[in-house]
Amino acid sequence: ATPTAIMVGTGKAAELGILISGGDALEQARRVTTVVLDKTGTLTRGRPDVTAVHTVAGVDADRLLAYAAAAETGSEHPLGEAIVRHARARDLVVPPADSFAAVPGHGVEAEVAGLRVLIGNRELLRRHGIDAAPLSDAATAVAARGGTPVHVALDGRLAAVIGLADTVRPEAAEAVAQLRTLGLEVRMLTGDNRITAEVIAREVGIDHVIADVRPEEKAARVADLRATGAVVAMVGDGINDAPALAGADLGIAIGTGTDVAIAASDITLVGGDLRGIVSAIALSRRTVTTIK
Ligand code: ADP
Ligand code: MG
Repeated sequence: ATPTAIMVGTGKAAELGILISGGDALEQARRVTTVVLDKTGTLTRGRPDVTAVHTVAGVDADRLLAYAAAAETGSEHPLGEAIVRHARARDLVVPPADSFAAVPGHGVEAEVAGLRVLIGNRELLRRHGIDAAPLSDAATAVAARGGTPVHVALDGRLAAVIGLADTVRPEAAEAVAQLRTLGLEVRMLTGDNRITAEVIAREVGIDHVIADVRPEEKAARVADLRATGAVVAMVGDGINDAPALAGADLGIAIGTGTDVAIAASDITLVGGDLRGIVSAIALSRRTVTTIK
């Protein structure tokens, strides 16, 4: 690509809110065969809300929420923030946590008013020898609607499933359809559970889902795809996505996402509109054809 063609190309993209790091990124965009999208914060807005609280018999929902919010107060995860917001909106008295530890990709462990509180996915509870089966119907019901079920255990006993739901970005389905029109394969990559992931995938028109991926495994899943000969564009927003963005042939960050993701990417979609992926790839094809 000539420097002039690249300048014109990246200039046009910038007008559309697509920041391209340079000529190499444009060349890579032209070669892409497969687009991998993170779910939370990329295909969805990334601001979930609590939609349901299912407790086991004998546990009061408000008391449970107060403990859960106390445990999540130190959390920077959108699910944790949603639980804290929900408790505040209900005017619950949230006690201070005596200890807090985030378990990336799984949840949090905390101590609140002498109680050990665990909040997270089934795997987190399993690691502590707690069986989530008694609330599995509730969890499945949340997931079947595309929500994320979060389990809560108090002092080693399953106490509740909190349902959280995130909104799919309004342009997501259109962007996925347009990527297909360009002849690209589209996949979802997420740390969330398979049922939830597949419901959201269906909503946006994706039929290849890689779910239950731990944060440290996202880059490895991208490497697996590249090993099959695919030229991979990874689209993500989170700290968890940074290694996968850096390891992809082309990293695309949601501009409203974390600075870490933006720094690890080649292209930034400033306003977060997913149709920017389509514009960037279409533009790269035009730009490179022009200069040939
Ligand atoms: P994603 O790839 O969707 O951003 P993460 O890797 O951050 O997901 O988390 C994977 C799963 O771990 C979540 O779907 C949730 O079940 C659980 N989890 C992670 N952090 C928290 C938290 N702070 N509170 C409750 N659950 C959590
Ligand atoms: Mg995300």
